[in-house]
Amino acid sequence: MRTKFDTKKEAVFRTVYSALEKGLVVIGPTQLAEELGVSKSTAHKMLNELSEAGYGIYVPKKGLVLNEKGEIKAKEATRVHRLIECLLAELGVEDFCEEAIKISMVAGTSFFEALEARYGDRKYCPCGKRIPEV
Ligand SMILES: [Zn+2]
Repeated sequence: MRTKFDTKKEAVFRTVYSALEKGLVVIGPTQLAEELGVSKSTAHKMLNELSEAGYGIYVPKKGLVLNEKGEIKAKEATRVHRLIECLLAELGVEDFCEEAIKISMVAGTSFFEALEARYGDRKYCPCGKRIPEV
């Protein structure tokens, strides 16, 4: 069962997961900074924090490589995001990706459980990306 969201970490996890989907095992500060629209030093700090929290190893001059625990978190964050997108697309919300990010920051367990019950067997989100299984 998922616990409360840490907004910044969730965003990093989602970004790292999309890099993994493209076959990139290491994510560096430059790439993360571009994806999240933060400074390179902030991105560097974010990646270091994840490694310090036990989600992977920070390889100097390269970037973060997730371990198994980190990969599970990254999948979980991405799954929740894409399940929310399914709901929002069904409601006709046009900017469902942006809205899904906001909702994921404030919603609680019962919302996520209802999402799983309704959309848990979907394979793809409305933009055609695969919904990872956790
Ligand atoms: Zn999507």
